[in-house]
Amino acid sequence: MCTFCGSSLLGGVDVCRHCTETVPAYTNHRSVFLYQGRAATLIVDFKGRGYKQLATYFAESLAAILPDCDLLVPVPFRPESVRRRPFDPVTLIVRELSNVQGLPQASLLRRRPGKSQKSLNRAARLTNLKNALYVRPGMHATVSGARICLIDDVFTTGATVDECARVLRHSGASEVYARTVAMD
Ligand SMILES: [Zn+2]
Repeated sequence: MCTFCGSSLLGGVDVCRHCTETVPAYTNHRSVFLYQGRAATLIVDFKGRGYKQLATYFAESLAAILPDCDLLVPVPFRPESVRRRPFDPVTLIVRELSNVQGLPQASLLRRRPGKSQKSLNRAARLTNLKNALYVRPGMHATVSGARICLIDDVFTTGATVDECARVLRHSGASEVYARTVAMD
């Protein structure tokens, strides 16, 4: 397993090709599930069909892999995606996780409108993300010195969590971890 992003590796190496080329801004990332089979079905039910009760299950699963941290922060949704969905799935999971763990949570990050990351390759994703993510005005004091754990639903290329981590580190976070429900 890659020390940084948590992707599976064949024996003998500790760091994957992507993380060798560009060391991520997050300390490490881990997922509960692989994005396949039953886990993928549950995530689709949760996000696509609005089975909100699954947030508790995902939160309890994430609790088992949480690092030692001060604050939970959801990876921000794209403004356009909220219009299509009556709730933000990641915010829901983070609220549940905050309850389960007794840890504070704060939506510190915002994302400016932009293209969906889904249709883009890794390089295009990074360009698309640049300047799209920022710390909410007035929240810099909360970020400063904090050990933050970013939470997202699905980890695909890792470009989004990496950029979130970069922004938080730039604002003075002492440590930024990333935990996701499933890894694609
Ligand atoms: Zn890696």
